[in-house]
This record gives sequence, C-alpha cells and structure tokens, in this order.
Amino acid sequence: MFQPEELKIKIMTPGPTQVAENVRMARSLACTNPDLDESFVEFYKETCELISSLLYTKNETLILGGEGILGLEAACASLTEPGDNVLVLDNGVYGKGFADFVTMYGGVPALYTVDDKHPIDPEALEAYLEAHHDFKYATVVHCDTPSGMLNDIGSICPLLKKYGILTVVDSVSAMFGEEVRVDDFQIDLLCGGSQKAVSAPPGLTFVVVSEAAKKAMADRKTPIASFYANLKTFEGYYEAKWFPYTMPISDIYGLRAAFDNIAADENMLSRHARIGNACRKAIVRAGLKLHLEAGFSNTVTVFDVPEETTAKAILDTMKKEHQIMLAGSFDALAGQVIRIGHMGTNANEADMTQTMRALDQTFAKLGVPLHASLGQVFEEALT
Ligand SMILES: *Cc1c(COP(=O)(O)O)cnc(C)c1O
Repeated sequence: MFQPEELKIKIMTPGPTQVAENVRMARSLACTNPDLDESFVEFYKETCELISSLLYTKNETLILGGEGILGLEAACASLTEPGDNVLVLDNGVYGKGFADFVTMYGGVPALYTVDDKHPIDPEALEAYLEAHHDFKYATVVHCDTPSGMLNDIGSICPLLKKYGILTVVDSVSAMFGEEVRVDDFQIDLLCGGSQKAVSAPPGLTFVVVSEAAKKAMADRKTPIASFYANLKTFEGYYEAKWFPYTMPISDIYGLRAAFDNIAADENMLSRHARIGNACRKAIVRAGLKLHLEAGFSNTVTVFDVPEETTAKAILDTMKKEHQIMLAGSFDALAGQVIRIGHMGTNANEADMTQTMRALDQTFAKLGVPLHASLGQVFEEALT
C-alpha cells in the first residue's frame, strides 16, 4: 500500500489542508453505480443544495469531477463566445491567469491590472467602468492565494452588475474562511474547490450558477467549445437522472462529509478571523514583514523571507525538525515569501500555536533575530 512520505507531517499549507477523519472515512463507504442508481442523483442534488444554502443563495450549484482549475475553465468556456470582450481584474497570479482561459475560448481579455500589494479599490474601478463597460463578463479572484490578497467581492460585483457585466468569482481559497453571500454580492458564476477551506482532499470543484449566467449560456450564437468544461451539459440532469459523465462518487461522499462539518460549525468565520489576526500580529511584533500592505485574507498569511536566510532553509527546517509543512510560493513570488495556510481544518488554535512555536525555533536555528516570540504573541493575541 502506498504510504506518502509526508504521512507524519502536519500540512499547514494554503490548500490542500488537513482532512478530518470523518471526511476520509466517508470516502471509503460502499459505492453504488452512480450512473444507474437514482438514489445517487438525489444525494448529488442534496449535496449541491447544501452548498448553495451555505453560500446564501438559491442559485444552482454543480459539482464537477475535476479539481479547482476545471471550475475556472468551465466558467470561462461556458460564457465566452469568439470576440467577446471580458474584463479581467488582476492584482495577483490567479487574477491574471483568467486572461488565458478567456483567450483560449476566443474571447478578448481586457486586463485591469493594479498594484499587487493592495486590494482592488472599488472607487478606482468605478472610475474605470464609467469610461469602459462594454464587457460581457468580468473575472475577479476573492483570495489570490500566492500572495494572500483578499479582494472585496461584496463591493466589486454589485458595481460590475450596475454596468450590466456578469460576474465570475474565484473564491476557491477564501469561501468558508471569508464570508461569501452569493445573492447579496451578485455573483453570477462562483467557483470553489474541495481542498482549500472546505478541507476535503483535492479532486472536486463546484460552480454556483445564477439565472443570468444560464441565460447568457442559452443565448449563445455559437456552441460551447468544450465538453468537459461545458456547464450546459448538466442541464436537466436531475429530471433525466443522467450525468454527462460518471460522477466520482467516493470523492462526492467525502465532499458531503466536509460540508456537513461546515454546516455544523457555528464559529467558522469568527475562528478564521481570530486566527488570521493573531498570526499577522505575531509576524509584525516579531519584526518579520507581511508581504502585503493591505487586503489580508484570514485563510492564509504570507510573509517575506528575511534576508539572513532562504525560503528553502525555512521550509526544510520546519519539515525535518518540526514535521510541519509550510508553503513557499510561485511565479514572481517563488523564493520570496513563506505562506502559512490557516484555512478550514488548519484554522485551529492548537495546530497554529505549534506552527508558530516551531517557526520561533526555526528562525533561531537559522540565525534570524526576532523582536518577540511568534508563539507567545500568537497565543496572547488569541485571548
Ligand atoms: C487552489 C486554487 C485554485 C485551484 O487550483 P488547484 O490546481 O485545484 O489547486 C484556483 N484558484 C485559487 C485562487 C486557488 O487558490
């Protein structure tokens, strides 16, 4: 039997996160044939409805058999027709990345690229939109995970809708650690993933689809240029008891257990806020530098690698000597920052205290002087 080398290692990464035992166990339940057993269709629909209710909407949720990126691609594939103008809001790696999906399906992306140390400013965006609003839809990332940037989708999406622009939001690494209210925020296509704050293993994505987004798909003059990334293929699945492809039943069992955990957790958002605040406070008091100036997500904390050491040395020491896995980052941030993932199952005081104390020892070993103990400030800030 395959035993990952990292089995004894606590993964404090910004997704995948630790997976609760009841979620792992749910994935090993006996399977029926998900194509032929109508009780599975009921289970799938009920799970989708649970997700919608946890996101404060009656819009339909569809669980797709593929990881987070499939949701983003499906949103763009399903809306984009050749020649469509699409506004791509960009202050991070995932933000900019949407332009590739738009281009791939024949759309014309207009990048609205702003400072990557601050969240998108709704007032500045409004000034831009007054002059430029001929867009079919716009994409925005809620938490741009490589830097931990949190954008205010509750202000941005209603603003876009005011100009008749459909809204596509990637909240894969924010939802359930940060508030998402689909109806209030006016989100037409919301993309989520199983392995971030939801805290199931990687492998599933889900998309929440508004009536306006469905109409845009129905009104297309050209067919959607994909099968696997085509949200319309799910149309009428419940009535027909027919999925476009065989659903990964065990993954969905696990996802349902993860959402049952979330539904039973009354303090999820406040716990993320408390832990996020305490973590940032500890970083600052210790004399380390938060990577961002503003727009801190309560799901991940990102700090700059101090000049006395390297990202690799910090990550290796944490792993080898403390059995804790943190993450570096990628693209322009590779080697520049360390990321602590405190989302979902990881957002608990015990694991985070252990992580901060281990970081104290790691920095001591690597010769990085701290102004205060990360572990101590973190714990004090929690109370
Ligand atoms: C993790 C993540 C995704 C999905 O990517 P995966 O390849 O499934 O990990 C999409 N968007 C954001 C912002 C993410 O953090």
